[in-house]
Amino acid sequence: MNPSIDPDTPVLVTGASGFIASWIVQYLLHEGYTVHGTVRDPSRPEKVAHLMEMRDREQGGKLKLFEADLLDDGSFAEAMKGCELVIHTASPFFISGIKDAQKQLVDPALQGTRNVLNTASQSPDVKRVVLTSSAAAIYGDASDKEQTENGVFTEAHWNTSSSLTHQPYSYSKTVAEREAWKLAEQQDQWDLVVINPAFVMGPSLSQRKDATSTETLLQLAGGQFKSGAPALYFGIVDVRDVAQAHIKAGFTPGASGRHILSDKVMSFLDMAQTLRREYNGQLPLPKGLIPKPLAYIFGPLQGLTWKFLRENWGIPIAFDNSRSQEDLDLTYRPAEQALLDSVADMQSKGWL
Ligand code: NAP
Repeated sequence: MNPSIDPDTPVLVTGASGFIASWIVQYLLHEGYTVHGTVRDPSRPEKVAHLMEMRDREQGGKLKLFEADLLDDGSFAEAMKGCELVIHTASPFFISGIKDAQKQLVDPALQGTRNVLNTASQSPDVKRVVLTSSAAAIYGDASDKEQTENGVFTEAHWNTSSSLTHQPYSYSKTVAEREAWKLAEQQDQWDLVVINPAFVMGPSLSQRKDATSTETLLQLAGGQFKSGAPALYFGIVDVRDVAQAHIKAGFTPGASGRHILSDKVMSFLDMAQTLRREYNGQLPLPKGLIPKPLAYIFGPLQGLTWKFLRENWGIPIAFDNSRSQEDLDLTYRPAEQALLDSVADMQSKGWL
């Protein structure tokens, strides 16, 4: 379709208060766009205070907040009025403390995607939807790489190993993205561009400690793994690059398809070593790995099942990120910089 978005129309960002979305909103405001941001509860200062500050600081663009819930059909309609571009980031992101995966993860991710995209089909101005999916919709377990041709995950791969009972967050992202492609094919008013970030790091614009990206790094830098790092590997990408990728995906007429975002794969131990070089003994960082037998004993207490450990422990992964560079003209900040900037941000907020 190659739509050209009129820069004078508002851009809808769902889940505007989130870790990633806040950066998208900030960049859009800075570039002078009008942003319609949705939040679940605009009366909660811990969710919206930073957006209000941003609105006052970034005088170029205008920010208007709307209340909308993924599970409330039609609730995005008002915010979508007049928008040619919809950036749909809202989806629950947590990997621990899951009691009912269907209700907590899959329903909001899947029904929420249907809700937002069906509203897009009923909103005649919408020309493009950019969906925040995840690398978790590309692969579930590190061992899935055995099914790839050369051990490298690309946009051609889909996660087939996650389920409601095994890696349910990854499952929620997979079913939601599949549904988005299905709905996109059923109409020809708007086109879909998907962003598949690996693990996102970098400074947070809000004061929230409980975003999963923030929480995971706080565990590492705050000493939870002091006696030994889990032998787990992640693709890492800076939140500022993820935000720019969404904006480029929205405003590049020829952009299409899925886009893995990952600068580099690092293990927890690699991350600890990067931080040790900078902080030289000031942070309680692990110096080695947790021995595998101990991981099997203590892992289940931390919510890591034996199946998860078997399919992920000590198995490095690799991503091909060339599509993001070619289709979106994205340049990556080094993963190490994302990590160091995250920790500096946490220190400046008194969290470490
Ligand atoms: P986050 O800060 O926790 O943001 C999640 C957003 O989803 C919040 O704005 C939240 O709104 C919204 N949300 C959750 N349930 C909702 C519901 N029922 N109705 C309306 N909104 C709801 O996490 P994030 O890291 O920025 O994640 C944003 C997106 O990126 C998600 O789609 C996530 O799957 C994806 N992603 C994240 C990473 C990563 O490493 N961070 C990697 C790949 C993909 P409230 O403010 O109202 O709670």
